[in-house]
Amino acid sequence: MPLPVAVNIGGHRFSVELVDVVNKYQPRRGEIRHLEGRILIDSSMMESRREQSLLHEILHEIDQQCGLGLEETDVGRLAEALYAVLVNNRLTFGGHGATTKTG
Ligand SMILES: [Zn+2]
Repeated sequence: MPLPVAVNIGGHRFSVELVDVVNKYQPRRGEIRHLEGRILIDSSMMESRREQSLLHEILHEIDQQCGLGLEETDVGRLAEALYAVLVNNRLTFGGHGATTKTG
């Protein structure tokens, strides 16, 4: 599924941007810029990696908003497991989310 152009996480709206270089100082698949309201995803990845990376960055924001204190490895494991459940069961919820696609 193409990524949405934006996602709402808590009370904040984040743009979702496919980019050639996520971070020029550290190689990354994705990055969330909490204060700017941006999620950057590496455009060179296959679709499933893009989706999983988006979920990973969403979990980082939830972690921050809820003060969970997750480590990077926790976020990575949760994103992997949650993504597999959603995909393997074809789960979507609500049907009122962002509909415009970015790629
Ligand atoms: Zn991370």
